[in-house]
Amino acid sequence: MAREYDLMPREVPRVETPFRRIVTAIPAPESVATLEKLYRFEPVAMRGQPPVVWHRAEGFQVQDAYGNQWIDWSSGVLIANAGHGRKEIVDAIVEQANSHLLTNYCFPSEIRARLVEKLSEILPDPLKKVFLLTTGSETIECAIKLCRSHGVKAGGRKKHVIVSFEKAFHGRTLGSQQTGGIPGLKEWIVNLDPGFVQVPFPDGFRTLDTSFEGFQRALREQGVEPQNVAGVVLETYQGGSAAFAPPAYMKALRQWCSGHKALLVCDEVQAGFGRCGSLWGFEQYGMVPDLACFGKGISSSLPLAAVAGRPDVMDLHPSGSMTSTHTGNPVCCAAALASIDLVLKENLAENSRRMGDLLHAHLHRLAKRFPQIGNVAGKGLVAGVACVAPGSMKPDADLAFDVVRKCVEKGVLMFSPVGFGGATVKISPPLVITEAAIADSVSALEEAFAEATVAQAVRA
Ligand code: PMP
Repeated sequence: MAREYDLMPREVPRVETPFRRIVTAIPAPESVATLEKLYRFEPVAMRGQPPVVWHRAEGFQVQDAYGNQWIDWSSGVLIANAGHGRKEIVDAIVEQANSHLLTNYCFPSEIRARLVEKLSEILPDPLKKVFLLTTGSETIECAIKLCRSHGVKAGGRKKHVIVSFEKAFHGRTLGSQQTGGIPGLKEWIVNLDPGFVQVPFPDGFRTLDTSFEGFQRALREQGVEPQNVAGVVLETYQGGSAAFAPPAYMKALRQWCSGHKALLVCDEVQAGFGRCGSLWGFEQYGMVPDLACFGKGISSSLPLAAVAGRPDVMDLHPSGSMTSTHTGNPVCCAAALASIDLVLKENLAENSRRMGDLLHAHLHRLAKRFPQIGNVAGKGLVAGVACVAPGSMKPDADLAFDVVRKCVEKGVLMFSPVGFGGATVKISPPLVITEAAIADSVSALEEAFAEATVAQAVRA
């Protein structure tokens, strides 16, 4: 269970840098009434994040209403790729809202046509047809439906197995959660569908065998015949650790899927729109999936998601049978078009690559200084710093929690630790972050590690 934050304000040292400002106790005493209201009226499950009441968010910074300002290392939850509150996105939203078209369901609209055309234009072959949805989980549900429809058509009813990866996260709905690879999150399902099977993710840290043979062996061990696989679904990088697979593994997987008429699905909900230092995460592997799922950073703001895929697969369901009430909401489409424009015009994938190189160099330096850092993973502006007991692989969730809490108290906003044992400190700032802000935020992280590890040694 994730550790919860205390709502009792803690006195913390004042911070004032060109980017960060902390002038109150944390949580800010005046914000406690709002926090308490949320605790009272929302489910306990919503309590996971640090007690900062967001008031404004612009560029790579977030402010509360009490004078504090953070460098944002969360991007919300990898949403604000083009930056928070960009004027171009706000203007597009306002213009669309003022145009008197706030919704369109599946009725044709010009703005939805513009967005699907744009996505198709910027995606590589064969990802040329696009179905718009609202959340990332829905895109995974849709991908499962397409994989099974395609599989059963190609190989009969036995060809329905969905293979995915251990430790993966694909959402919290029934199908997306079964595609996920974290057993504790699926206990509520009780009667799991045996047609969902997970294999180890070749991260090179928790799974040392990164050869493609490991994939085939895991299927054999679970009694899965390759010809019965309808689809293989993976996060382009694992959100819980920021780990990528080796390109050779992914190329072999691509070939294996083609050879067995299984669809390869990349969940780009986190990885897309420049996050990994390339426009699409799968470019890191030099291959293209049959289906790709997008969400979060597609609009840098309003809720929108998309499945893009091979036209023959996307057209498997007849007219009127793959729909959604809010598919391509006009205001969300306007936000997405404006955000995509910014990502392309400002070459934010390249900024992500350059700033990411700086960030990763800093993190590797920290890993040399602190034996409690067991691994640094990621590419571009996503990184996962795995906290361990020194000299071992044992995850240290308490240390990760303390590091994140201290970072927040120092003016770097992060979400709670993620991943294996809740011990990964995840770093994912908006792609507009600058070199000076990277250096400034890393100095806070370094202080946080120094203080948290000393405190831990004193307790021991
Ligand atoms: N896939 C991945 C890789 C994700 O990170 C998430 C959300 N964290 C989802 C799917 C689910 O998206 P949503 O919360 O929008 O349903």
